[in-house]
Amino acid sequence: MAQLTESPRRPERALLDTTVLAGDGHTMVVKKGQIFRIVDLEGNQAVDTLFYNAHDPVERYSAVDTIREQGNIYLTTGSRLISSEGNVLLTIVADTCGRHDTLGGACAAESNTVRYGQHTKHMHSCRDNFLRAIASLDIGLEKRDLASNINFFMNVPVTPAGKLTFEDGISAGGKYVEMRAERDVFVLISNCPQLNNPCNAYNPTPIRLLTWNG
Ligand SMILES: [Zn+2]
Repeated sequence: MAQLTESPRRPERALLDTTVLAGDGHTMVVKKGQIFRIVDLEGNQAVDTLFYNAHDPVERYSAVDTIREQGNIYLTTGSRLISSEGNVLLTIVADTCGRHDTLGGACAAESNTVRYGQHTKHMHSCRDNFLRAIASLDIGLEKRDLASNINFFMNVPVTPAGKLTFEDGISAGGKYVEMRAERDVFVLISNCPQLNNPCNAYNPTPIRLLTWNG
């Protein structure tokens, strides 16, 4: 059972406090030492997130290195988010949800058609949000840099037989996850627009992002 950890930080003292609408993308830089919080405002939202070294985006979040180093497939308080170079990009310091996924990947037109049928091909996806965001920024990121991501607040339990299952969410309105940047990191977020998955109750909702100076 996950250990739930609350944060002492108060929203009124935040450096940044912004809302990302349901289905939208968002990019930002979080400086080394700063604290970054994602709030699931209405509950059971999936927040697909990628992290990069802000000074050299070739170095990016690595799901496989993170899982191996912590010896666990779920992310929660204490999880160190490891880069493709073996460095710690961020450490999760508070978590009132208790479990976050890094196996399920980001939704895309391709996976939507495989999972839900050809009629879903046109639907807006996290991969569309990621591609649109990196195309609008001239920071050297391309399609190939969209590797395995984190799905904050998403419930993807693995069965004893090793099967991935997408389940109804375990998050709820107001739950949050908070992490400390151990390096300057570029954050790429898709507030998942998925309409075919029980993780978000088929209903994408807004999220809130906050940062503090430590
Ligand atoms: Zn998605």
